[in-house]
Amino acid sequence: MSDPVILFDFDGTIADTHQMLIAILNNLAGEFGYEPLSEAMVQEFRGLSSQEIIRASKVSAFKIPFLIRRAKEDVQASMATVSPIGGIVKSLEDLTKQGYALGILTSNFEENVQIFLAHHDMNNLFTWLDAGMTIFGKHRMLRRFQEKHNIGPERLIYVGDETRDIDAAKKSGVLVVSVTWGFNTREILEIHSPDALIDDPAQLGEAIAQLTQNFPR
Ligand SMILES: [Mg+2]
Repeated sequence: MSDPVILFDFDGTIADTHQMLIAILNNLAGEFGYEPLSEAMVQEFRGLSSQEIIRASKVSAFKIPFLIRRAKEDVQASMATVSPIGGIVKSLEDLTKQGYALGILTSNFEENVQIFLAHHDMNNLFTWLDAGMTIFGKHRMLRRFQEKHNIGPERLIYVGDETRDIDAAKKSGVLVVSVTWGFNTREILEIHSPDALIDDPAQLGEAIAQLTQNFPR
């Protein structure tokens, strides 16, 4: 049991949740006291890191956890309408055929991910699903995953679409693949120095093969 383990972020990496999230955030703007996001603002945010976005938004700091919780509840109601990123299912299937064990590690709610996976018949692709809001950040989730399943960083890769995915992986000593089809732009991802940076799900297999070539088998 020493197959390399590839953990995936969910939103923006596997599931195309972007437009739905914006619609939900704009719905809650009045209630939480911020301006609805224009298309220009959405594009501008893509070039910012998560911390910069929170600073740039006018949401008061103490309201942010409540906003996140509320938005995620609304997301659940819309989850069955979300599609997988184009080409990602084929790439995931190929990885499992090549002997990689796959998992999802996300700060989205488990129930949301389950709805999506069931709806697209993708349950059998993943061995692990670690989900849940954490105020401690994804690097803690990554460390907890390693302890819980006794899987060390030498056989682990994280795949995500945001700068915070890169930072979390680095903090926990895990190699990271960044994808440019999600939330953050290629430019800002590049600044955070991922171990691989890909623009299309078809490139996933090769990037993973390269990064895992020295992994113990
Ligand atoms: Mg994401």
